[in-house]
Amino acid sequence: MSFLSILKLKCPRCEKGDMFESGSAFFSLNIKMHKECTVCKENYFKEPGFYFGAMFISYIVSGLLSLLIVGLMIIVLKMNWLLALFVLFVILAISYIYLYKVSRAIWLNFFVKKK
Ligand SMILES: [Zn+2]
Repeated sequence: MSFLSILKLKCPRCEKGDMFESGSAFFSLNIKMHKECTVCKENYFKEPGFYFGAMFISYIVSGLLSLLIVGLMIIVLKMNWLLALFVLFVILAISYIYLYKVSRAIWLNFFVKKK
């Protein structure tokens, strides 16, 4: 498991092949995944409903990210809490698709060992 390969949405086994058709693009709305790694042929779909668990990862990641962002804005920047919430919603809306992909990458990394 490599933190950088998760953020770049790379294959957990070889860390070279892309997991998603859109590569590691942050702003792409294309959420289609490759069926297997384009480099080492690692199967990305272990069983039906495999990525159901990624939903919980997404919940944890976005929850911690929200606490961190709002905490920084209120404690460090002394921002009004209502404005901080608004800024948080904008940040979450922009990064929603990327967080979805990162959650799937984290989930797959639990089950695939690096070569
Ligand atoms: Zn691979």
